[in-house]
Amino acid sequence: MHCFTYREDPDQEPRVALTPGTAERLNRLGCTLFAPTGAGLGSHFPDRAYTGVTFQDRSTPSPDARLLLKLQPPTPEEIAGMPDGAVLLSLLDPFRRGELLPLLAGKNITAICLEMIPRSTLAQKMDVLSSQANLAGYAAVLQAAQEIPTILPMMSTPAGTLKPARVFVVGVGVAGLQAIATAKRLGARVEAFDTRPVVEEQVKSLGAKFVKIDLGDTGQTDQGYAKELTDEQIARQREGMKKICAQSQAVITTAKLFGRPSPTLITKEMVSAMQPGSVIVDLAVDTGGNVEGSRANENVLTDEGVLICGHPALERTVPQHASEMFASNVAHFLEHFWNSDSASLELPEDDEIVRATVLTKNGQVVHPSFRK
Ligand code: NAD
Repeated sequence: MHCFTYREDPDQEPRVALTPGTAERLNRLGCTLFAPTGAGLGSHFPDRAYTGVTFQDRSTPSPDARLLLKLQPPTPEEIAGMPDGAVLLSLLDPFRRGELLPLLAGKNITAICLEMIPRSTLAQKMDVLSSQANLAGYAAVLQAAQEIPTILPMMSTPAGTLKPARVFVVGVGVAGLQAIATAKRLGARVEAFDTRPVVEEQVKSLGAKFVKIDLGDTGQTDQGYAKELTDEQIARQREGMKKICAQSQAVITTAKLFGRPSPTLITKEMVSAMQPGSVIVDLAVDTGGNVEGSRANENVLTDEGVLICGHPALERTVPQHASEMFASNVAHFLEHFWNSDSASLELPEDDEIVRATVLTKNGQVVHPSFRK
């Protein structure tokens, strides 16, 4: 099966959907691999690090490519250059980039949306949101540690004792848990909050303190995602978080709602009450942000001296590991649905993972959430 991996726009995205390790795995399946020259360079994988991949000058797939691997959603121009009837695996951001779906259907592409991998034990190894969120949570703490004017651990010296920094993690999903673990390893005093009550035990097991704020009924969806709060609950949450934000040197926000804009949890007033030199890392900035005043791809310094860091996808700061994880998720998907007799991908329509992820097929938008 002829498989083409795209080179991502080097100004926007250092990660790549095929690494030297996954190229070996896909070769073993019987894929014939093609990629544009320099596809892995952003992740420090030069062409020579790959075996069994033909690197070519052209940046678009040839007409006989059947399988297309990509990381960021394709542009309309990239879709126009796709071979009719190919299978595409990529992030597709369908809740915000719905305009791409008729274009993909128009080219008869079977579009597999990696964000829609279900949260089941079986599909865990294919879950790109989790693998990337883990790295983002780690990177958020390193960014905060570099920006605050203090160290994270307690330090006793003949000159005196330095108190540990206080880190407050808001939203304890995959990224938040990793942020807590990383901040604890670096010696910070860590507090955390999430609206899903099941999280309390996980926070405590990492040695952090769970902040109790009574919001009444909150719950979670059957996929494990948070439910949207009422305006009154959000107001209560802000009130409960105000004092902790004011006492923290670093606040890391990761609170997201799947398929919907993220809630604003830290208002301008709460930011103003924080100490000069303190830092907020808003990992939800690309979905609307948890912090009033945060801006995507910018560090905003407030008049009171608080730095709000709004870099989406902080996993890009560790692109080699991020690519390894992403590409491995993709390889797991392909291995799972591979028919070794025909050396091709087989996507049974009644399969749970297929039903959740295939957005377009046979010239139509087929996913119930996006069908018009
Ligand atoms: P996410 O990225 O959608 O959200 C991040 C966190 O923000 C969540 O914990 C959510 O509860 C929280 N949040 C939302 N609104 C909030 C608010 N107002 N205040 C504070 N926190 C708020 O979630 P995620 O990281 O993808 O994961 C959510 C859960 O799903 C986790 O428990 C995770 O372990 C679980 N999960 C399971 C699987 C699987 O079973 N295969 C895979 C991935 C994640």
